[in-house]
Amino acid sequence: MADAAVCVFCGARDGQDPAYRKAAEETGRMLARNGWELVYGAGDIGLMGAVARAAQDAGGRTLGVIPEHLVGREGIVRDLTRHVVTETMHERKKVMFMNSHAIAVLPGGAGSLDELFEVLTWRQLGLHDKPIFLLNTKGYWTPLIQLVEHVIAHGFADDSLGGMLRMVDDPQALGTALRAALS
Ligand code: AMP
Repeated sequence: MADAAVCVFCGARDGQDPAYRKAAEETGRMLARNGWELVYGAGDIGLMGAVARAAQDAGGRTLGVIPEHLVGREGIVRDLTRHVVTETMHERKKVMFMNSHAIAVLPGGAGSLDELFEVLTWRQLGLHDKPIFLLNTKGYWTPLIQLVEHVIAHGFADDSLGGMLRMVDDPQALGTALRAALS
């Protein structure tokens, strides 16, 4: 699907290891190369800013979605193709989700986890079947997968929950997985 859009959730910080920022930039370029629109939180900070600037610089389309009260705090990357200012955080997540065909989660903090679990629980409830990828840069998400396995092993979720999260090691593998999922 050439005009597909990919929602990227990721940190508003860079994280300790420069590999996180490098992978975010490579992800932005990879999306642009494939002609996929980047849908993200509009912010100009951390990995969010890195992925968006890289996508923009590579000629990619970008849609930023930010709640009014965060405009001052997170800024907005200039010259996004489109941006939407929402009233609430909930609305932000909904607009991002509704405007994308797949979700990719890069390393991030509580905000990224919140966004991930929202789309994961919606999928668990059968509300959508959009693929959800975890970019496991330097094994960042391995403890999260272990937690999900723990939840399943202790009878608090069906086995199928694990299969709803697809791990990829690097942006190139993410591109390959997205191509297969979006075709
Ligand atoms: P973090 O992963 O904590 O660096 O946050 C990444 C992004 O998630 C930032 O743009 C936060 O504003 C955003 N965020 C944090 N909490 C929420 C929430 N409850 N709903 C939507 N976005 C959120």
